[in-house]
Order: sequence, then structure tokens, then C-alpha cells
Amino acid sequence: MSHLTEMEKVFSAIDQTAIILRKELNCLYLEAIAETGENMFHGEILQDELDEVTKKRLEREYESINLEKIDGETIRKAYQLAILKGMKEAVQPNHQMTPDAVSLFVSYLIGKFMEGKSNYNLLDPAVGAGNLLTTILNHHHQLIDAAYGIDVDDLLIKLTYVNANLQKHGVQLFNQDSLQPLFIDPVDLVVCDLPVGYYPNDEGAKAYQVRAEEGHSYAHHLFIEQSLNHMKDGAYGIFLVPNNLFETEQAKSLHAFLKEVAVIQGLIQLPLSMFKQESMAKSIFIIQKKGEGVVTPKQALLVQLPKFSNREAMNDMMTQMNEWFRNC
Ligand code: SAM
Repeated sequence: MSHLTEMEKVFSAIDQTAIILRKELNCLYLEAIAETGENMFHGEILQDELDEVTKKRLEREYESINLEKIDGETIRKAYQLAILKGMKEAVQPNHQMTPDAVSLFVSYLIGKFMEGKSNYNLLDPAVGAGNLLTTILNHHHQLIDAAYGIDVDDLLIKLTYVNANLQKHGVQLFNQDSLQPLFIDPVDLVVCDLPVGYYPNDEGAKAYQVRAEEGHSYAHHLFIEQSLNHMKDGAYGIFLVPNNLFETEQAKSLHAFLKEVAVIQGLIQLPLSMFKQESMAKSIFIIQKKGEGVVTPKQALLVQLPKFSNREAMNDMMTQMNEWFRNC
């Protein structure tokens, strides 16, 4: 059986059971995906209010797949497809999942920046539905000691919880505003597809050096400072940021703060074709917290990525990047 067919079978089981649950529980499709994922993980139907006929229909679908025998990436992709379908119903642009191509590329970068390190721990302070985090775990779980995820949205964090369970990853999750105090010890790596825009809580923003002098502060700036607060010396931060990060009126204080506490390792611009509007385009920003033995690279990794589908150009780019890693 081909890989794709297996993924489609898992998607179909999630989708069909979610459709049944959405109708019977009168809930959103996204909520139904979380419910059905829970059933799949526990191997039983947890919704007591369902009648026997409905339970039988669900069981028949669940029996069509054997999750024990299916690898994490296949389950992640199938679950991701179902989440994407659910997000079409109602989701704000800032809550969108990190696309696969980006998550895979970030996984590659982690492999390079964390080379030689083992037993490291990792935090995603805007974990959303967990696509970025679980992609990383599927590629590097042997080296990762502990993973933490935070999100303010209770449905999205539930989806991450179910997603991680089905992929057999232990993740500690917190449902809270990440810009409030966190109860997590400093980590070796922060990875985050940052929520871009204004943070409405001006009072809360006062705890941050990079806050705006007047009016609302940029949440993505505060997230970078908060991440650095929770990084060990020498730890890496890999963030998806808007392309204009250093071009706004609030950029000055972010720049000054970063200069004081971190070293910029790289800025990699994602292909513009990935985004509906140029103003929404993003880059991957890589920093390292200052500390003993941390050296500023001779030259930061500054790259503009070609389309991921352009294999030849992508291969050339990877060769250049691997060269940078060899020389840095
Ligand atoms: N990487 C995620 C994934 O693959 O599913 C997507 C992250 S999405 C671009 C940004 C996330 O930030 C959303 O899930 C949103 O709920 C979350 N968020 C926004 N403001 C937040 C805050 N103050 N504290 C915690 N999470 C927040």
C-alpha cells in the first residue's frame, strides 16, 4: 500500500467520524476532530450521550485503520488535512497552521543549528494546532528530552494535545497567554510561528523592554523578548516573523534589545509565492542568546528561498546553506 493511500485512509477515518460527531453533538467540525482523536487515542468511544447505532457506525470507521502500525508523519499529515478542512469553517488568519513546507524546512534548520547536541528541550509559545511542533518532534524526537507548547486558544491547544497523543509524543501543554508569566524553566530551543499584530493588553506589555512608547505594542516583538526570557544562555530561537520586522516604527527598541541579549544567526526569506499578499510574507529569523562561548558569525545566514517546488534552485540553495554551516 502506498504512503499516500495510508494517509488518505487515516484522513477518511478522522473525517467520517468527525462528520458523525459534529451532527450528533451539534458542534464545530474542529471540535469534532478533537473528540474523534480522543476516541482513537483511548481506543473507546468517550461520548456517553451517543446512541448505540451511532457508536456502532463510529466503531466501524475506527476499525478500518490500525494507528499502532502507522508512523507519526502519516498521522500528522492526515490530522492536518482534517484541521485544514475545519479551519475553512472559521479561523482568523493569525491562527493558521504553519504550512508543511515551512515546518519541514525549520526541522532541517534545527538539525543544523542543534548538531552535536542531545537531550535538549524545546518550547513553542504559540503552538496552535501543533503542526510545526509535531513535525519537529517526528524528525528529532530521539534528541529531544522535553517539549512544551503554549497557546491562548483552548480549542487549538486541545487539537495539539490530541495530535501529539496520536503521534505518540509527550508534550507538556499550557493554555494561557504566553505574554503573561510562564511556569517553564529556561529551554535550549524556542521555535515559534509568531502571532503577528498588536497585543491588546497595554498593562501587560509594560513588563517588556520592546513595548511601544505609545499605544498597543506588537505582540510579535513581545513574543521574541518573552522567548529570550525563557531561553538558556547559548540557546537558539527560530521564529517565523513578518518580512518588515525591522522596518516599522517599533523596530528600534526591538533592535536595541536584541543587540544587548542575542546574536543574530540568520534571516531567511520564504518564497513570496507562498503568501496571498506580499504584505503578509514571512521570514525565518534565527537568533542565539548571548552567553559563554557564543560567537557572532562572521556573516549572518541571509537567504532568499526559491519556490520549494523548484527542486534545482532549492538544491543549489541547500548546498550554499550547508557551506555556510561548515564555515561558521
Ligand atoms: N505553529 C502553529 C501550528 O503549526 O499550528 C501555528 C501558530 S499560529 C500562526 C499563531 C498562534 O498564536 C495561534 O494559535 C494563536 O492562538 C496563538 N496566540 C496568539 N496570541 C497569543 C498569546 N498572547 N499567547 C499564546 N498564544 C497566542
